Amino acid sequence: MNFIFPATPVSSLAILGSDARFPLHRIYCIGQNYALHAKEMGSAVDRETPVFFCKPADAIVTGDADVPYPPATNELHHEVEMIVALGGGGRDIAVERALDLVFGYGVGLDLTRRDLQAQAKKAGRPWDSAKAFDHSAPVSALCRASESGLPQQARLSLDVNGERRQQTDIADMVSSVAEIIHHLSRLFELKPGDLIFTGTPAGVAPLQRGDRFEAQLEGIATLRGRIS
Ligand code: MN
Repeated sequence: MNFIFPATPVSSLAILGSDARFPLHRIYCIGQNYALHAKEMGSAVDRETPVFFCKPADAIVTGDADVPYPPATNELHHEVEMIVALGGGGRDIAVERALDLVFGYGVGLDLTRRDLQAQAKKAGRPWDSAKAFDHSAPVSALCRASESGLPQQARLSLDVNGERRQQTDIADMVSSVAEIIHHLSRLFELKPGDLIFTGTPAGVAPLQRGDRFEAQLEGIATLRGRIS
């Protein structure tokens, strides 16, 4: 291909127990998928029409690398989330066959400029500056679904500097993994390589430079890192 400058390399994730990597297509995120988090944000869950937003694929941070504190914010918040990686795609996927699309599971942080999000909400403006900034999506290696099965009950937690900040059981999700895939596939054509952040539990709070974090999806994946 005769590109006028070198094309951006494809972002990818490690796969546990394998040298092969998962090539990333898009990053979708669901908002307010745990009732207690919706409550702490001053709203209520809308089960019928979940809210979705996206992050660019090159916003991921892998390999437990440091995450640079982003510019233009004084309130960088952590949101620990279970991650679903798709190995298949399609449109209008029925709930009953949605899990057939899943390649694997992991854990990640939906980093958020909460101050910019609050301003955007107030003004009825888009969330991109609050959610889709560079390095806004640190993610773990993926565990193949063929090994883990669908985790239906597993502790999702985040420690910062050794202190527990967020904890839930993923059984408390409002929309299940299958329902999220179903809803998304009515809005977008899903593709192999898509990554879905499935929402955060209560306890979102600020991160500071130098903070060390450890996110865990019990028995499946761990993500460690530092805000630099
Ligand atoms: Mn989130």
